[in-house]
Amino acid sequence: MNHLNNDNQTLEQILNEVKQQGVTYLKHIHERSTSGKTEVQINTDLAIQGLGTIDTLKQFNERFEPVMVASSGPRYWGFVTGGTTPAAIAGDWLSTIYDQSTQSANGNGDVSALIELETIQLLLSLFNLPKNFLGGFVTGATLSNFTCLAVARQWIGKQFGKDFAREGVSGNVPVLSATPHSSAIKSLAMLGLGSSNFIQVNVLQGNREALDVDDLELKLKALNGEPFILISSAGTVNTVDFDDFEAINKLRDKYSFWWHIDAAFGGFAACSPKYNHLVKGWENADSIAIDCHKWLNVPYESAVFLVKEQHQVLQVETFQNSNAAYLGNPMENFSYLNFLPENSRRLKALPAWFTLMSYGKSGYEEIVNGNVELAQLFAGFIKTNSSFELLAPVRLNTVCFSLAEENLVADFLNKLNTTGKVFMTPTFYNGKKGIRAAFVNWRTALKDIEVVTAEMLRILTEL
Ligand SMILES: *Cc1c(COP(=O)(O)O)cnc(C)c1O
Repeated sequence: MNHLNNDNQTLEQILNEVKQQGVTYLKHIHERSTSGKTEVQINTDLAIQGLGTIDTLKQFNERFEPVMVASSGPRYWGFVTGGTTPAAIAGDWLSTIYDQSTQSANGNGDVSALIELETIQLLLSLFNLPKNFLGGFVTGATLSNFTCLAVARQWIGKQFGKDFAREGVSGNVPVLSATPHSSAIKSLAMLGLGSSNFIQVNVLQGNREALDVDDLELKLKALNGEPFILISSAGTVNTVDFDDFEAINKLRDKYSFWWHIDAAFGGFAACSPKYNHLVKGWENADSIAIDCHKWLNVPYESAVFLVKEQHQVLQVETFQNSNAAYLGNPMENFSYLNFLPENSRRLKALPAWFTLMSYGKSGYEEIVNGNVELAQLFAGFIKTNSSFELLAPVRLNTVCFSLAEENLVADFLNKLNTTGKVFMTPTFYNGKKGIRAAFVNWRTALKDIEVVTAEMLRILTEL
């Protein structure tokens, strides 16, 4: 028996069960383990007869659900893992229900692209960025870095009188950066620019990860006025350091370069008057990458690229979906498929639109301020306990620390993560083994800090 028709008739019951399960999951997410053993047998054959959705749900619940970790819960502090706001979940469900392929906004009934364009406007407003950026949604900051750097590649080709998109990359393309995220380096590999070809700029003295502008200038002198690509950071992952965007902008008078900012999560500093000084001057960049599945707290996969409108022709030359030489205004017959890597895409903007509309600027200011306060509180605990050592000042929402006895870090972290009460990630910073705790979840509260610090003190006695 084929279950498809039956499932269609009982869709309401199916969705009600899923809804109830989801509500129960989220209600108890603070009790769910943040880690677990995943010894699950993998099926290798597809049955001839299907199970139907209700029995498939049962199987999911038997085999996989019990070992799902609370990665969107309040004590998942590993990597930079955002949660999901109620509005974002609602928007995400509707993206699935309406199942649009978001491409064109030419008035042919495809309103989904208009929703995406509107969401970009809302984000620019949230970040206090000017409206001269064109933006769109991709799966994550990796793809956003890729998209922005692909346009940068086309720009620099033009500086050398070449059309890299059509002809392929040739010659050496200077790319400079101080502390690029691994995904920016991966993007250089994917773009044929070469992951080992970038020129490392020194970081500032004094426990910093930000670019030393003097050293940058020294390296630029060696380029003899050649154009280059600069990848700068609005929030490094280890210590959330920010490059000096005003100083970088001043270099524009003297040098010709494409300026990209990886602001995957640090860009949210712009949401708070307390921290927006960290991104001062970022509006002058050519392109910016921002993740939405981190601090915007929408479900995976969601990020935006922002590229200055003046580069639209370069962007379309890079991503146009046919080999026809592009003529005229890229915004006439606008279609996202000519501006980014994918052709068919889900309506990724809808969860972001829902959460932005629901909580507004003040909602995000509160989330950012709240997370930073908790990071500072946690750092305070680290500082006052002599068994721990803070590896870097807390500039925003991440605490990078070690143990006074560095050789115990791995054992400590393993024991801590095994409790299932919290999840943090190992790192290596300033020649030391360390641990990172990143705060980007709207659910995280004071009591979570208390739970975690109590566990940490207990584990110290077990080492
Ligand atoms: C997370 C992150 C990325 C990569 O983003 P994905 O969403 O994982 O693709 C890039 N840059 C920075 C600074 C990040 O924090």
